[in-house]
Amino acid sequence: MRTPPLASGPRGPHHLRPLLDTVLGALRTGARARGGPLPAGGPDAVTAAVRDAVGDVLPDQGDPDALRTLVHAFAQGAADPAHPLCAAHLHCPPLAVAAAADLAASVLNPSLDSWDQAPAASALETLLTRALARETGHADGLVTTGGTEANQLAVLLAREAHGGTVRLVHGANAHHSLPRAAWLLGLPEPVAVPAPAGVLDPVALDDALTRLPGPRGRVLVAATAGTTDAGLIDPLPDIAARCAAHGARLHVDAAYGGPLLFSDRHRSRLTGLDAAHTVTLDLHKLGWQPVPAGLLTVRDAHDLSALHHRADYLNADDDTEAGLPDLLGRSLRTTRRPDVLKLAVTLRTLGRTGLGALVDRVCAHAREFADLVHDDPRFDLHDRPVISTVLFRPAHAADTAVAAVRRHLLTAGRAVLGRARADGRLWLKATFLNPATRPDDLTALLTLVHHAHAEGQGPR
Ligand SMILES: *Cc1c(COP(=O)(O)O)cnc(C)c1O
Repeated sequence: MRTPPLASGPRGPHHLRPLLDTVLGALRTGARARGGPLPAGGPDAVTAAVRDAVGDVLPDQGDPDALRTLVHAFAQGAADPAHPLCAAHLHCPPLAVAAAADLAASVLNPSLDSWDQAPAASALETLLTRALARETGHADGLVTTGGTEANQLAVLLAREAHGGTVRLVHGANAHHSLPRAAWLLGLPEPVAVPAPAGVLDPVALDDALTRLPGPRGRVLVAATAGTTDAGLIDPLPDIAARCAAHGARLHVDAAYGGPLLFSDRHRSRLTGLDAAHTVTLDLHKLGWQPVPAGLLTVRDAHDLSALHHRADYLNADDDTEAGLPDLLGRSLRTTRRPDVLKLAVTLRTLGRTGLGALVDRVCAHAREFADLVHDDPRFDLHDRPVISTVLFRPAHAADTAVAAVRRHLLTAGRAVLGRARADGRLWLKATFLNPATRPDDLTALLTLVHHAHAEGQGPR
């Protein structure tokens, strides 16, 4: 058998070019066959279509047309975050320049567990993590697979800074990955502080910190800057002051809201962020990156020494002493993709101004959509958006009808909306992350929801 062409090496680009034409062609035909934000028919229809298109995934004899067939099926069956009616989750349409940079990362395949596998990638990672850490007022940062891993690392670093145990105190509005990290790390049951208005209540936090048994200081408070459900930001300066008064460590989960830092208009909403010991950022949300693109920034670079780890084949002492950078302590993973390339390319291509403008634009879409909902008697608006999330529901609808509207739009392949519970009721959630959305799209979304609800109610 002939060796299948390789992606890198002197002939790599020559081998890749026709394959890229195939991929781009199949992306186009797949999207055309889908026609909307997601495939119609629900899980059974999509599963059947994929099974038909793919056939045997491990045939005895290979199929030279597999790239085209599978990419077409993959695109046809995708929920496309670049479609303006795909607005459910913190699921962003990636920038073309970031996806193109990610191709180079796949082709060269550096692995960030040792310098000899990633010479330039590790140097770029140092530059990029320091630059993003400076944005949060911090000294250093680690690249993660997302907010979940960044939150886990934050809890781990707090545990190690406190000599092996820590009590996590988080708002009831915190991301589920935080209590899960406490479980994973074998920590005592976390304390959930009420967040009746959707944000952590500093007075309730103070009470909880006062009542905690055990030695003062072995506490990690986790606040949120951009809740997943509603995009709300906890009162960071007040929380930071109460943590300082109680000697508690502070982590801020800014997986969603972090990129407000790029916007002159919105940056002040994150005042107080620099008081945190650690901050989670997720640039595959409000940062328009292909997944994954997470970071954890740390105020005190010394905290990272807890991750120091030695494996003779990757960071032998004599290699490190001779000046080879030691990468193993920069993650809990071993083999690691150079996610920094797409990030660095994006930051440098758009600049702070360009990124800030994208942030401003999606926040403006959310405000416009909230205005439409507010002015329309057919709908209830939960609240004005803080970032780019709007919770709304058809007026006078039962929760079951709200849930049915969402599923109806999904199954029909017409729109992708999320759901969230707030004030004891179920809401539809629209998360705006697509900078190319136009005013017409916002009205179309509202009209679709109205019709889906009206149809669900039967003829009147
Ligand atoms: C999305 C999100 C996370 C989890 O991030 P992943 O990248 O999905 O792992 C954590 N916290 C908040 C507030 C989030 O919105």
